[in-house]
Amino acid sequence: MKDSYGREINYLRLSLTDRCNLRCVYCMPMHGLTFVPNDELLTAGELERVVRAAVDAGFHKVRLTGGEPTLRQDIVDIVRRLAHIDGVSQLVMTTNGYRLPYIAQDLAEAGLKRVNIHVDSLNKESIGKIMRLGSYDKAWAGIEAAERAGLTPIKLNAVITRGYNDDAAVELARLSIQKPWQIRFIELMPFAGPTEIQLEHYVSSDEVKGWIEDELGPLFEVDDGKLDGEARVYRLAGAEGSIGFISPISNPYCDDCNRMRLTADGRLRMCLLVDGEINFKNTLRNGGSHQDLVALFERAVRAKPVGHELKHGIHPEARTMSQIGG
Ligand code: SAM
Repeated sequence: MKDSYGREINYLRLSLTDRCNLRCVYCMPMHGLTFVPNDELLTAGELERVVRAAVDAGFHKVRLTGGEPTLRQDIVDIVRRLAHIDGVSQLVMTTNGYRLPYIAQDLAEAGLKRVNIHVDSLNKESIGKIMRLGSYDKAWAGIEAAERAGLTPIKLNAVITRGYNDDAAVELARLSIQKPWQIRFIELMPFAGPTEIQLEHYVSSDEVKGWIEDELGPLFEVDDGKLDGEARVYRLAGAEGSIGFISPISNPYCDDCNRMRLTADGRLRMCLLVDGEINFKNTLRNGGSHQDLVALFERAVRAKPVGHELKHGIHPEARTMSQIGG
């Protein structure tokens, strides 16, 4: 289905919970958080209804995210239900990976295709500075469990935050030489009531790319610079894997955006960085039909904004990244 700007909208990201077992410095404070109560989260059955409607409205790729999606006790059931819907071409997940050693095999058997694992540093000593409550051993165990279960090709996501994990960029990029992984650097974005860290500790993709090239040599464009999802992808000479840069601030990809996000409490957000949502949960819980849900998706696609307005200083005010679903 095409939106008002001619973009094909076919990718739905589902936040399963706004809770997380980490407290990354740029994402969630350590204390004083309130979360969506469990009975307000969409159930596995409601998520299945939403995805069936999404497929009929033209979506085919689905990503599970959060918060931390693996904190849902029914995560394997959710994967099984969604993976078996006709018309879902790809079911994937974004996770910090800490629970994967326990559930990766079950997730793969239930139909999950692959995972993106978030790890802002793989330095034993300093990982906790950026990913408060983070653990080098748990991050590695998660990555290894994903590989063993065949949830591949693996992509690792990192947000470089000045003064917190600058040193991690080159070390993470170095992994791409020997591992067939895509190491992706996401630019830090401002969300509701943007914090000092979000506004003052941003590092552009070009700067990170410069650090990597200074240490590891030139990066060569993959696929003539064609976007892989939202990432511009490069490779070091002779490397097994690749390096991606996701640059919503310095080089926005709104013209190629194909996605929408459903929050854990059942609101569809047409753009990550622009407030404005459509309430699916009301329709789900007040007797709405399959056709009503399809119609909501069609309305959302028509209403999708052309792009974000960060360059004019307009930030999303309603929700944080963990509440929207990253
Ligand atoms: N818990 C999962 C994880 O850690 O990947 C999924 C949710 S998390 C919100 C998804 C991604 O959003 C992570 O890679 C995280 O680094 C990123 N993220 C969170 N806040 C961000 C921000 N303000 N700017 C850019 N990326 C952010």
